[in-house]
Amino acid sequence: MTDIKSMDLEELKTFVKELGEAEFRAKQLFEWLHKSLIDSFDECSNLSKAFREKLKEVASLTGMEAIEVFESKIDDTKKYLFALEDGNIIESVRMKYEHGNSVCISSQVGCRMGCKFCASTLDGLVRNLSVSEMLDQVYKIQKLLGERVSNIVVMGSGEPMDNYDNIVKFVKIISSDMGLNISQRNITVSTCGIVPKIRELADEGLSITLALSLHAPNDEIRKTIMPVANKYALKDVISACDYYFKKTGRRVSYEYSLVAGINDNIKEAMNLVKLVNGRNIHINLIPVNPIKERDFKQSDKLKIKEFKDFLEKKGVNATVRREMGRDIDGACGQLRRRFIQSERNS
Ligand code: SAH
Repeated sequence: MTDIKSMDLEELKTFVKELGEAEFRAKQLFEWLHKSLIDSFDECSNLSKAFREKLKEVASLTGMEAIEVFESKIDDTKKYLFALEDGNIIESVRMKYEHGNSVCISSQVGCRMGCKFCASTLDGLVRNLSVSEMLDQVYKIQKLLGERVSNIVVMGSGEPMDNYDNIVKFVKIISSDMGLNISQRNITVSTCGIVPKIRELADEGLSITLALSLHAPNDEIRKTIMPVANKYALKDVISACDYYFKKTGRRVSYEYSLVAGINDNIKEAMNLVKLVNGRNIHINLIPVNPIKERDFKQSDKLKIKEFKDFLEKKGVNATVRREMGRDIDGACGQLRRRFIQSERNS
């Protein structure tokens, strides 16, 4: 079966021609898949019956199913567990803001980056997600909500730059005016800092926001929590982010998860100010979400406030990320992990 939901318009044209259909059918089919979000080819009312039957024989519509939905009582955050066709489980999150619905999607099953505080990477990488599996996280959530999704953050499980081609294609399809038409300005892709890929992304001609998982003001501390820091020096990571800003005009967001006693002292805040050195960036401070497999603790509230105030006093733009859906399990892969473990134990 051909995964036509992962195809861009050009690929779809070739595909329909091979089935003996006129080229303009590709655009109609694209709109059925990506704007009407069909569940069955029978819905494609402007395609001939014969063509629809042919599609059923040769093409798949991703059979991804929401197996559980968790709803926060605190802030209306919803977390979704999806079962993929091959039985793998991924998670996605819907956050409700005044400006609309934001969906956080996963880009891989598992992850091979090994960040010490992150649950997604504990069992390593299983596989990349296809373009259609990333699209379907948004499509399924939009359909289940019955509300438009206006923002996307690629901050779920996985390292998007490790699934680069699929991420770029995902962005192009979901921002297409023949699809959901989500503005590229409302899409954020977060990376642990794969230098060559940040540069490549800068050259794609997209206007999405790049978020860098910084988490430390120098290589020494960064190496203790992020193995990727052994591969790319911070100065090269920052220089790639500068290049991204230069090429796209989009301000880069720096993520900084505060871990008690590791990176949350005023000394680190001072070094952080030096590191960003007047750049037009934004720092997102994230109180680390402790995972039971590791011994990291959240910085206390006062410490977080001091850290933020120091940055602001020095003219560095910083916000503390609101913790959403605290009551329905924490960040990045914790939900999936808990689910898989409870299946194993049952
Ligand atoms: N691989 C990408 C995107 C996924 S993680 C990246 O590294 O950016 C999204 C963000 O959540 C990253 O900044 C990541 O470091 C952070 N994160 C992961 N686990 C966390 C935890 N337990 N507490 C706080 N932040 C966490």
